[in-house]
Amino acid sequence: MKKLGSIALRLNNFLYNAGILGLLKVFEYCRIPLELYQVNGSELVISPEIFTSEKFDFPRMYYETLKYYFEDGTVWKKIVDLEFDIERLNISNDEGKEIFDKLIKKEIIDTKCLERSSYRSGYDIVKQKDDEFDVISSMNMLKKETDYIKKKDILLIIIRYIKKYHETFCFKDMSYTKINQFWSDMAFLNRQSNKKDMLECYESVFCIPVYKYLLTSKNKLQDFCLDCGNPIKMSDAFGMSWINGVGVDHRRKKSYFWNSKPDSFLCPVCALVYSCSPLGFVFAKKKNDSVFINNNTSIEELKRNNEGFTSEVIGNLDNLAEVCFNVTNRLIQKELELKESELQNIQVIIRNDSGYNIGIISREKLIVIKECENSFRRLTERRIKNQDNWISVYENVLNNLLSGRNQYIHINMYFRISLREKQSSWYIWDVLRIQIWKKGGNCMDEFKRSIVMAKFAKEIRSKIAGNSEEADNKLRGFAYKLLNSLQAHDRHRFMNVIIRMYTGLGLQIPQLFLKMFENDDTFMNLGYAFILGLKGEEYNPAENIKKEA
Ligand SMILES: [Zn+2]
Repeated sequence: MKKLGSIALRLNNFLYNAGILGLLKVFEYCRIPLELYQVNGSELVISPEIFTSEKFDFPRMYYETLKYYFEDGTVWKKIVDLEFDIERLNISNDEGKEIFDKLIKKEIIDTKCLERSSYRSGYDIVKQKDDEFDVISSMNMLKKETDYIKKKDILLIIIRYIKKYHETFCFKDMSYTKINQFWSDMAFLNRQSNKKDMLECYESVFCIPVYKYLLTSKNKLQDFCLDCGNPIKMSDAFGMSWINGVGVDHRRKKSYFWNSKPDSFLCPVCALVYSCSPLGFVFAKKKNDSVFINNNTSIEELKRNNEGFTSEVIGNLDNLAEVCFNVTNRLIQKELELKESELQNIQVIIRNDSGYNIGIISREKLIVIKECENSFRRLTERRIKNQDNWISVYENVLNNLLSGRNQYIHINMYFRISLREKQSSWYIWDVLRIQIWKKGGNCMDEFKRSIVMAKFAKEIRSKIAGNSEEADNKLRGFAYKLLNSLQAHDRHRFMNVIIRMYTGLGLQIPQLFLKMFENDDTFMNLGYAFILGLKGEEYNPAENIKKEA
């Protein structure tokens, strides 16, 4: 055999990266000897032996890894899990018979799971393996049968048949629920091949071309693979249209991650990498929504971000928005352990029925989170009651930051709630601080000015406030008027209230108010800081933590 050089795969677009991670999962799950592959930073170097040696059966390894990660939640697993219950069911009495009937009605008859077209084509595949057992006619027999001992036997035979040929039925279920979200129309997902053995199909479409490609001399080749840049012969090349969301989608005329050209081609190695991309994603438990956290820094980092806490978080939640939030949140907690200089953009990719949803947490946003770490930490526990609902201030703040929105609308709302429900509003300092840092520039100066502004307001408060209810109402009245003018971004209305307030008390208006006319953000920041002071809240984190402990 010709001596072959090693294969080097480099991090690229997110789907390719998911493929590299998926391939690595196959190697790890199937315990490929460590000397045959190596991770070097953003590169995965593989010995061609994995694809050329008879010692390794890549299609089988691919399937076994898919089964390990994806079998939960498949219809196949549901059917197979019935075996245990059915075997132990005592059907000699009426109660047992009733349980039996209910069980098969609910799990088999009503779901029509054995009559689905994917399984019907599966029966044809198994027949080619010389097993003539007929599930459909056995099901009909079972329905007609009146003797429960026989009924039970027939059902167990059916279940064991489905269990035995997991390479067909489990594979079919995984293909049509999970794999086909990432690619289709190829190998076992090609319509013309749906009655062919799935592992053989995978081998002939993906593995043999790799084998041949590795043996081909690359000299004098004029065409190049779009992803790895290696030379390819046109007759060996793969197109891109089978990869979902890439290729040329004529309906959308838009590709997600590159300007796709209709003449883009892949080498067989890269095609095989893409075939592994479903394995790079982490799926929500018993669902077909999945998430992938992308970066191009290193494969190790990619691995860390897409296992452990990601699986934990995504596995425990039903709601995709919540999953997204929690993954982001946990990622951020992890990023906070890094030095500022080590922070990188994070790409969070959510795959669901409607396609890919790509969110980017930019390095700038991560820096804001890092610099306001204490404020964020204090807010994590902050839930406020608004009539019958609980609002998580932390979630609002983080969502606003991540989506590039200002916090002002929420700040206004928090004040109104606190005035109405007579709650403490100190935490608004933290929200305001995050808002000021998000804006960037001289945030420290801006924040210091806000603190001074609050002190002025506190003086006003002490002049007005007494123990009387009247004083209380007066302060609330002022606060509402100021909130309304801030909500309307109306500086003149705001100043009118301030002027009346100061002249009413015979006081001079501090110069700092002039600052408010510089720009809208400063108006908002100083304005809300003033209301904080009016409510008696001074910026004093240490003291407040003590107070709340
Ligand atoms: Zn390639």
